[in-house]
Amino acid sequence: MHIVVFVKQVPGTDNVKLDPETGVMIRTGKDVIINPLDENALTEAIKIKNSRNDVKVTAISMGPLSAERALKEAIAMGADAGILVSAREFAGSDTIATGKALAAAVRKAGDDVDLILCGERATDGETGQTAVMVANYLDIPGETYVSAVEVKDNSVVIKRTVERGFELVEIPFPVLVSVNKDINEVGMPTLNGKLKAKKVPISAYDVPGLGLDKSEVGLTGSPTRVVKVFSPKLSRDTIMKKADGTTQPVDEMIKFLISKECI
Ligand SMILES: Cc1cc2nc3c(=O)[nH]c(=O)nc-3n(C[C@H](O)[C@H](O)[C@H](O)COP(=O)(O)OP(=O)(O)OC[C@H]3O[C@@H](n4cnc5c(N)ncnc54)[C@H](O)[C@@H]3O)c2cc1C
Repeated sequence: MHIVVFVKQVPGTDNVKLDPETGVMIRTGKDVIINPLDENALTEAIKIKNSRNDVKVTAISMGPLSAERALKEAIAMGADAGILVSAREFAGSDTIATGKALAAAVRKAGDDVDLILCGERATDGETGQTAVMVANYLDIPGETYVSAVEVKDNSVVIKRTVERGFELVEIPFPVLVSVNKDINEVGMPTLNGKLKAKKVPISAYDVPGLGLDKSEVGLTGSPTRVVKVFSPKLSRDTIMKKADGTTQPVDEMIKFLISKECI
């Protein structure tokens, strides 16, 4: 069985910066971590690997060259191989172009991939669209909001969080599953894993290496455009009503709140 896990490197703080001119995210800087939900996806893949003896786990990341660190961390946690998708031309990719590139990277992982696990959303872009984009480009089912996974011989039974509860679905392989934080407690790298991570080479692909044209990725391959980036303006007024022993100040307050549609 072959499981692919997507690991995205994201800023380690909530302080995601955008270039005000281009609307493009600034992805340089040292304070980067693996997207937390991708750690849940990775932990689940390792859990499945430890429960059987026929499982290979490949981690895939698209980003700057520094994203190799995320792949090494994934191997330290128990993955067997890492694929880095990196080239200047990928910069500025929206979820369509990212989905196309990640789908091409999955094909490079081999034609034996049964299960793709990823986070439901990344803490920086946070669109939650990448998983279904990849499933679309691979022409396989994409299941979202998954909080439990049970692997069978040729299928997977998943528990999806839906509006009024849960649904259990069994889907034959290959399938892509995006997970939420309820799926598990995130695992830790092991000493053996850390030693292995030093030795395992990371396969790297650029645009032609993935069999794509540069017009399909980056800003040229991204129909979504950031029109303007701005911080919302917050304004605050204080209105004081003095208690005068009558209900009038309270009545006025209620009238005001109704006029602002607060109550
Ligand atoms: C309008 C718009 C414009 C954007 N413009 C830019 C831009 O100019 N430059 C830019 O860098 N980004 C841009 N982004 C963000 C860009 O879409 C994301 O970098 C990327 O497409 C993933 O989107 P996301 O963070 O929303 O991931 P989500 O869809 O929230 O992530 C879901 C899961 O997909 C997987 N995943 C997502 N991205 C990767 C990755 N790179 N490698 C491995 N796994 C991954 C992870 O497992 C993640 O948990 C833009 C987004 C929007 C909505």
